[in-house]
Amino acid sequence: MKQLKQIALLVLALGSVVQAGAVQAADVHRSAEDPNLVWTASQVVLKSKEMGPGVFMVYPDDAEGKNKAGIPVATSGGFIIGDDGVLVIDSMLNRRLATQLIGLIRAKTDKPIRYIVNTSYHGDHSYGNQFFPREVAIIQHEATQSYIQSHFADDVKFMSTYFGKNQGLDELRPRRANLLLSDGGRLQIDLGRQKVEVMHLGFAQTKGDLFVWAPQQKVMFTGNPVIAMPPALPWLLDGHMVESTATLKKLRTLLPENAKIVPGHGVPTDVSTLDFNLRYLDTLREQVQAAIDRNLSEKDTAATVQMDEFKGYKLFPWVHSQMNVVKAYQELKGQAK
Ligand SMILES: [Zn+2]
Repeated sequence: MKQLKQIALLVLALGSVVQAGAVQAADVHRSAEDPNLVWTASQVVLKSKEMGPGVFMVYPDDAEGKNKAGIPVATSGGFIIGDDGVLVIDSMLNRRLATQLIGLIRAKTDKPIRYIVNTSYHGDHSYGNQFFPREVAIIQHEATQSYIQSHFADDVKFMSTYFGKNQGLDELRPRRANLLLSDGGRLQIDLGRQKVEVMHLGFAQTKGDLFVWAPQQKVMFTGNPVIAMPPALPWLLDGHMVESTATLKKLRTLLPENAKIVPGHGVPTDVSTLDFNLRYLDTLREQVQAAIDRNLSEKDTAATVQMDEFKGYKLFPWVHSQMNVVKAYQELKGQAK
């Protein structure tokens, strides 16, 4: 379970596998060995796009073509500028990417950066915190903070062991959050004629995912609970399919039809992406439950629940068959760890 999570983080965070070695999830490495299916932190180039007055998203410059083809790309985030300062959504993986992000902010404003929201504990969304000035207030869910405080060294060590020393991970240190949200917590921030809402809606991809909403521009930053436009699928890394589905439904009801969505790993999208994710999750639950009702084993369920209409995602064999179906099976059987 922990290994699966770490390996998945690696795929998200680093991509380029230099040593297959004796690794637990051979399937991940099979897909990761194809350089077209993963991203390499040292090559990512970030760009920004204005989603509405003062609201910018930041995303990798190869995302347009790759998202459409179902190929994973590096992390997306953004920043929101008000009269009094700037709020950043996700700080990226390492110094190189955090510096690019700060450069994109500085290209638009010289106002002080006041806040960073980390949408989850995943390194590609939070490791960059330390490269921002000390006075920047870091906002996390309390589960994100406690995960980072107890797993940081292990996560970084694992990454360095498998990915070498050239991804800027050696210098990473955890940085304590300044503002913690608890379950169901909401925070309204006025940046000066620019309102931002930070909210926890329940278990999404992790226990502590935060969503960031710019109400005036109708832009929702989701982090990883929405990975990218179709055909990308949700990654149930930490399980909790039922709760995760409920959280995404809650998110959907909050959003006006013309809302713009900034996903965790891709170009801007809209509520149709959320609908696609929900269709996938509902179908997954139905089909896995049907397999359980037929007394199929976990292995047979993974082989049976094919869901061909979602196969366009290049990571489908791993994300769907080897992770999501297995997590759903264990949860619905009451075996979830
Ligand atoms: Zn991510």
